[in-house]
Amino acid sequence: MGRALTREFFYEEDSLDAAKVTQQALIDTQERMGMMLDIMPMGLLIHTRQGILFANQEAYRMLGVRRGEIVGQHLLDFVAKSEIPGVMRQIDRSFDNGIEPINQETLLHNRVGRAICIKLISVRLPWAGTPVVQILLQDVSDLKQKQRKLQQLSIIDELTGAHNRRHVFTEAARHMQKAAEEGFDLSVALLDVDHFKKINDGYGHGVGDQALISLAGAASEIVRAEGGEDAVFARIGGEEFLLLLPGFGLQATEALGEKLREAANAIDVRAESGTFRFTVSLGVASLADGETSFDRLVARADTALYNAKNGGRNRVAVAR
Ligand code: GH3
Ligand code: MG
Ligand code: MG
Repeated sequence: MGRALTREFFYEEDSLDAAKVTQQALIDTQERMGMMLDIMPMGLLIHTRQGILFANQEAYRMLGVRRGEIVGQHLLDFVAKSEIPGVMRQIDRSFDNGIEPINQETLLHNRVGRAICIKLISVRLPWAGTPVVQILLQDVSDLKQKQRKLQQLSIIDELTGAHNRRHVFTEAARHMQKAAEEGFDLSVALLDVDHFKKINDGYGHGVGDQALISLAGAASEIVRAEGGEDAVFARIGGEEFLLLLPGFGLQATEALGEKLREAANAIDVRAESGTFRFTVSLGVASLADGETSFDRLVARADTALYNAKNGGRNRVAVAR
């Protein structure tokens, strides 16, 4: 009996130790979980219908608040005004039928005055009786900026900084459709450097490049100021440029072409042997009633350009 008691005593002590170990393990696990969530490179919020219940370190950083300041606030307090309805809809959807994660990109204004582009991924979680959603916040600002930069680069001619061939033809397709539907004017001007081969041969290819860069700079500036916001000035070949002028009739296009010709004439190109000037020729054409092919319009401008060359160069010729 004495032995049995002893055994029982030992047994109790054993189970007490086991309980302590289990409790400690749980505390450790919670701490470890907290640490794991804090080193996660993504914001995490546990959100009730009323407000934020828990946030990890990255969420504090993103929202620009200190630990402890955030509990009780609502994610919508940080969402840009115009985005609030969309985010509200997403959170409601996650509460209502949210075992499938849903996501959307949105704009947050954090407490240190930074606007950040965020991907919100929300899903409903079981949480001790209270309905909660887990919201992951992924900062996509850098990605967005890179995307924007790439998008910009993809429409620019590398050498001259003018728009490129692809962009002007894409824009043309868009404006051709509008011109057909709404019947507004659309014109083009083809610009080609006169005797460019001689520049290359006489001063070198590098100096030829420099002439193209200066020409594109001067022309783009004039087009930006006078061509309207939809105008596009693009390099479409070696020393050939296409100007797209939505809303412009033939006369206005001819006048703008004349300005470009004069501006080109005034460019001083620096070479080893000194500075020199060059001339350009232009052919302009306007979309005729019922004309539906942009290629055909450009071909008419090209014929006019050919006439300008044949007529002695350094001039603007109009396709009638
Ligand atoms: P025209 O007055 O009849 O237009 O004579 P042109 O010499 O300008 O005509 P052409 O089209 O025969 O010559 C264009 C030259 O442009 C040929 C080519 O070597 C040169 N070229 C094409 N791309 C580039 C470039 O990116 N840089 C330089 N420097 N030259 C280029
Ligand atoms: Mg030429
Ligand atoms: Mg040419």
